Amino acid sequence: MKQLAAARHWVFDMDGTLTLAVHDFEAIKRALEIPLEQDILQHLAALPEALAAAKYAWLLEHERELALAAQPAPGAIELVRSLQARDCRLGILTRNAHELALVTLQAIGLGDCFASADILGRDEAPPKPHPGGLLHLAERWQVAPGELVMVGDYRFDLECARAAGARSVLVNLAENPWPQLADHFAVDCAALRKAI
Ligand SMILES: [Mg+2]
Repeated sequence: MKQLAAARHWVFDMDGTLTLAVHDFEAIKRALEIPLEQDILQHLAALPEALAAAKYAWLLEHERELALAAQPAPGAIELVRSLQARDCRLGILTRNAHELALVTLQAIGLGDCFASADILGRDEAPPKPHPGGLLHLAERWQVAPGELVMVGDYRFDLECARAAGARSVLVNLAENPWPQLADHFAVDCAALRKAI
């Protein structure tokens, strides 16, 4: 993991990575009548426009409450602040909405660490695992995708990094369930900070 110490371009998943995981995706699916085995955003994208709009609105309200009450994940603040102190470029790639990402980052005390244009939500980039968001940031920052490090807590984050040609770090799990997908693993952001 030491080779990550030289990395200057870091992209974070938000929910469950910088924050304590609070999204109950099964409850969301039940409330929106989405089959449990289906992806929420994919399901909504395939619905007739009016129905999709109503369900997106419900989702946004539900997530707004979660955003206001967001709590930082262990070591997340210190990790982001230490990267900021090293003059790293910092981005967010989330399947949440951009405006809620701003609310969430503010709530956990990282509101000043990310430029708004470097926070890509579900309306600014195709949802992960699609690599579009990472490729967009690489272009914006004028670096090769291989210079990016994507930090996340889920398979989609790792698949997104792999597809973009970026490096990945899996955090916030007791063990690594996707060893073939994750380039690096740290139990939390505090461990990652110590390792770099
Ligand atoms: Mg996550």
